[in-house]
Amino acid sequence: MERLPLTDEDKELFKCPAVITQLPIMFETGLQLLELTGQCAGCKRLIHNDLFRGRVNTGFRGVAVVEAVGVCKQCKLVTRFLFRFKKDATYETINDQGEWVRIYLSFGVLDFLKNMFAAMRRWLRRLLSKAV
Ligand SMILES: [Zn+2]
Repeated sequence: MERLPLTDEDKELFKCPAVITQLPIMFETGLQLLELTGQCAGCKRLIHNDLFRGRVNTGFRGVAVVEAVGVCKQCKLVTRFLFRFKKDATYETINDQGEWVRIYLSFGVLDFLKNMFAAMRRWLRRLLSKAV
């Protein structure tokens, strides 16, 4: 991990309200983002909600952009965050190598569907094993 001096943009973001006060983010598909927490790039601990601050921009259609900084209470490190949340329950963020990566959100409905399919597969396997 590379340590860089604070930029003016980092300081501006830290003057913004806590991200938690700008949630939930709601999409026209019914998807809601209720919680968002940052992880310290140094010690990997979760950043306290009060110290995770920034801008939530919902002015684009089908995507919400969150730019934030988080200050870790333990190691005093400032971590910068940039997320693009999409209405299809995925989000993109920048990894340590500076590349955009896409991540699939797990939330209630998806978990329910995954469990349902797992149960169906087990049920099918049982049926098949009895037939053999
Ligand atoms: Zn830390």
